[in-house]
Formats: sequence, C-alpha cells, structure tokens
Amino acid sequence: MKPLASLFSLFALLLFILVSLHVSPSWAASDSVYDTFLKCLTRRTQPSDHVSDIVYSRANSSFANVLVSYIRNRRFNSSSTRKPLVIVTPKRESHVQAAVLCSKDLGVHLKIRSGGHDYEGISYVSDDAFFILDMFNLRSIDVDIQKETAWVQAGATLGELYYRIWQKSKIHGFPAGVCPTVGVGGHLSGAGYGNMLRKYGLSVDNVLDARMVDVQGRILDRKAMGEDLFWAIIGGGGASFGVILAYQIKLVPVPEKVTVFRVEKTLDQNATDLVYKWQFVAPSTDHGLFMRLLLQPVTSQTQKGQKTLRASVVALFLGNSDQLLAITNKELPEMGLKKENCTEMSWIESVLWWDGFDEGTIPPLETLLSREDSTNFLKRKSDYVQTPISKANLDSLWKKMIELGKVGLVFNPYGGRMSEIPASATPFPHRAGNLFKIQYSINWSEDDPEIEKNYLAQIRSLYDYTTPFVSSNPRSTYLNYRDLDIGTSTNGKDSFEEGQVYGVKYFNDNFERLVKVKTAIDPNNFFRNEQSIPPLPK
Ligand SMILES: Cc1cc2nc3c(=O)[nH]c(=O)nc-3n(C[C@H](O)[C@H](O)[C@H](O)COP(=O)(O)OP(=O)(O)OC[C@H]3O[C@@H](n4cnc5c(N)ncnc54)[C@H](O)[C@@H]3O)c2cc1C
Repeated sequence: MKPLASLFSLFALLLFILVSLHVSPSWAASDSVYDTFLKCLTRRTQPSDHVSDIVYSRANSSFANVLVSYIRNRRFNSSSTRKPLVIVTPKRESHVQAAVLCSKDLGVHLKIRSGGHDYEGISYVSDDAFFILDMFNLRSIDVDIQKETAWVQAGATLGELYYRIWQKSKIHGFPAGVCPTVGVGGHLSGAGYGNMLRKYGLSVDNVLDARMVDVQGRILDRKAMGEDLFWAIIGGGGASFGVILAYQIKLVPVPEKVTVFRVEKTLDQNATDLVYKWQFVAPSTDHGLFMRLLLQPVTSQTQKGQKTLRASVVALFLGNSDQLLAITNKELPEMGLKKENCTEMSWIESVLWWDGFDEGTIPPLETLLSREDSTNFLKRKSDYVQTPISKANLDSLWKKMIELGKVGLVFNPYGGRMSEIPASATPFPHRAGNLFKIQYSINWSEDDPEIEKNYLAQIRSLYDYTTPFVSSNPRSTYLNYRDLDIGTSTNGKDSFEEGQVYGVKYFNDNFERLVKVKTAIDPNNFFRNEQSIPPLPK
C-alpha cells in the first residue's frame, strides 16, 4: 500500500469509529479543549478545589440540561443549533476572572449568559466555536433597607430581586421588567424598563455602582473603572465590555396599595377612537400611571367568520382606584374605565398580576422565585413613535394586521420621568420626543420550519408597513428587544462599519462614545457578539 493511501485509510477508519460511536470530530476536539480549559482554570483559581464541578463538556451527562435550562426561545434549541464546546458555571467571582483569562489563552470565543432571555439567543448561540459563561450560580441579593439600596448579582432574576425587596419592605420596589425570569445581567446592562418607567425611568436610571471583570481579568467597581466605562455598562450592553458581576441599585418608593386594570375594546366598540386618543393621553398623564396597549387580530364575537382588532389596555397606577378613576374619566373617557375593572393590591402582587395572572387569583409570592418558564418559538422587533398616528392610518394598520393574521403590537407609553433624563445620560437615547415604543410580537408553538418562515415573514412585513409612522434616520430600536434583522457584525475587518449600522439604531448619538469606551477597554475585541460595539479600526 502506498503511504498516502495508508494515511487515507487510517483517516477513514478513525472517521468510521467516530461516526459509529455517534461522536462527531468536533466533539472529540471539544474534549481536548475541555481538558486544556480545565487545567488552565485550576491553575488560575485559588483555591482550585472542585473547579471540575463548574465546567461541563459535551460528554457530561448534564451538559444538555444545563444548556437548555436558560434557553428562552425555542428557535435556538434545535438539533442544528451550534452547541458550545464547554459551559462554565462560576460559583465565585474568581471563577469568572479565570474563565475570561483561560478563554483568552485558548483563543476561544466566550458568550455570557445570565437569564438567557435574549430574543435572538446571542448569549448561547454562535457561528464559531465558543464557550458559554453561565452566571446562574452567582445570584445573591443583598438589600439594605436603611440605605434604600441593594447589591444584586448578574445571575439573579427580576422575580428574585422583587421578592427579596418585598421581604425587607412593603413600600419599596424597583423599576424593571415585567417578566420575573428575565436575568439581571442582560436586562440592566441593556437598560431595562417596566411599568414604573414613567415615574422612575429605566432600571439603569437607578443604578449606583457595578462590579465587572474586564479583559485583563481584573475586578473593577465604579471607582476603579471610571465614569466612561460605568456609563457604557448601564445600557450599552455589558457583553461588549466585560462580564458584569453585580449592580448596586437604588430602591424606589411604592405605595402600600397600587391599582391594576385591564380593559378591552374591539373595532365595533370604537377601539380606533380609544387608540387614537391613547397616543395623546398615555405619554402625558400622571407619572404614576402606565397604560400599556396590546393590539391583536382576533376572531370577531359579533360577526360570524370575521376577524377584528382587539385593543387591550393593561395598566398599573401607583395610587388607589378613586384617584385613578378621577384621572381616566377626565382624560380618557373613551376607555370607559369603571370601578369594577380596577383591583387594588400590594405592589408585589401587581408584579404577579402583570406576569399573566390577571384573570385569576394571584398565586403565592414564592412563585417569583421559580426559574421555570414555558418556552415558545418567538420573534420580536421594536420601533419608536414620535408623532401620533392618524385615525385613517390606524384603520389601515388594523387592516394590515388582520390580513397578516397573527402578529401583534404592544405600545408602551413614554413621557414622565423618561422625558426629563437627557438622551446622553446613559447609552439608551430614546427619551424626550418619543411618545411610545412599539414592540412587534409573534409567538408560536409548532416546531415546523414552514410555519416559522411564514411567521417571520409576517412580522417583517408589518415592520415594513409601519415605516411611515415611526422614527427615521435612524429608525430607532431598543437594545433589549434584540433584533438581528437590523444589522450584524462579522467582527472582522469591517466591524466598525457593520457596527455603525445597528449601533446608531440602538444608541443614536451615543454610539460614538460607546466605541471610544470599547476601544479603550477591549481594543482587541475579545468581548464580542453579533451586535457588539466595535473598537475603532487600528
Ligand atoms: C419573556 C420576556 C419578557 C421580557 N420583558 C422585558 C421587559 O419587561 N422589559 C425589558 O426591558 N425587557 C424585557 N425583555 C428583554 C430582556 O430585558 C432582554 O432580553 C435582556 O437582555 C435579558 O437579559 P438576560 O440576562 O435574561 O438574557 P441573556 O440572554 O442571558 O443576555 C442578554 C444579553 O446580555 C449579555 N449578558 C448577559 N449577562 C451578562 C453579564 N453578566 N455580563 C455581560 N453581559 C451579559 C448576553 O451576552 C446577551 O448579549 C423580555 C424578554 C423576554 C424573553
């Protein structure tokens, strides 16, 4: 046998063994990467005991479970989705430092995941070989009620945070997202908003300090990192700059009783008049009133076989129902709000009500500590509206939504505190001048590529349709409603130009400052993803 032929047969034999063992060559490669990574972690961690317990290779029987536990979009949980070589789940800050340095030593891309709610899955999916740094073990919450502050680690969920605040005080809260399983690491580093944003602004408007690990493996607090970097990690997306370990937040006062309500109107009940007027009232009313508007095509109850549009106002008011009715009867009579639509409850109960328990009894508060979540296929997009949409245009929008059939819209009113904070105070620029944010939303449960194609086309078609009604130059978008349709980076030589395309949409005039911070802290772009802030070209 000729040497080349024997080499070829040897390779074929190896491949045959791998295939018959259902082991892919990348798996084999990942094992040796795992060994090298583990050795490095052991060397770099003091004390180095049990480091192997926090690292999962693909061969580990818990690997799939750890990976899937924090996947919140089924679109990125298919057999063809590329899997990480290794998942590392730090239990101490020093593990994070070692994980950063060892990934750098090995030249392997590091993805950072806290709650896993990224709408495009970019905390746990990548096109190149990668590790996941999964922060779920680092989730302590230390509330200091005297000082009205708390330190919260990145791996905590919003539900855990709300619950721990409530344990210490019934008259304090924190303005952040309405979904309790969202992670603090991604949410706060990407801005974070919830139903108190008109009264207290974004989550990041209430952040006092932070701890992070930079590309050199150093732990930096606000003083050590300096004001530029601190500014960047409160809204610019932490994953471009380092690993956020924890944030110190300022708690906000909430009344002992708040009021919630939900009111629905379809087109034959004058939904258009309600929505039209809502655009003027919701962004300018009492700062303690947040009236979210949900718009959904539904089957008509009155006209058989017909579709209609349902407008639902879901609201939180930081006060009692009499005060609320005095406001809404005067400012938005089109809503027809009545005392019997309103429920008074504690702020913490309102968190559960908002999480979808609005039609039944409120479950035990400990539900907020649950990390279980139902996971669907989904896609989101977002926009900002600066001029009210006319009734004629609303009518044509409803027609388009009914024609498409499934995609819904959520209007989130701004104004109040949001308009008082300068657009450059944090990287999040969408402040004064914005009436409301639109979220485009589609969820489905069928695991079928054709259905996925159809639904993705629907949401994109609606986004195209609304172009004349929303902000332009740039068409602004909210970072935490991640949308890879608006541009991505290959993180190669064109990363600056590529980054500008999505970066200006997410950050408007703040993009440039983010690039400067990035260039200073991570010039070689170790911390990167599909939509990260690029360093300036060298
Ligand atoms: C069901 C649902 C409801 C939502 N509701 C709201 C809402 O009410 N308000 C709102 O503002 N947003 C909301 N969001 C969006 C949410 O705020 C963002 O998806 C947020 O980034 C999620 O954070 P995470 O830690 O859970 O996600 P992850 O997927 O873990 O991370 C998101 C991004 O942050 C990076 N990141 C995560 N942790 C760290 C860290 N420790 N250091 C550095 N970078 C990190 C990741 O790499 C990724 O780029 C919702 C999302 C979902 C799926």
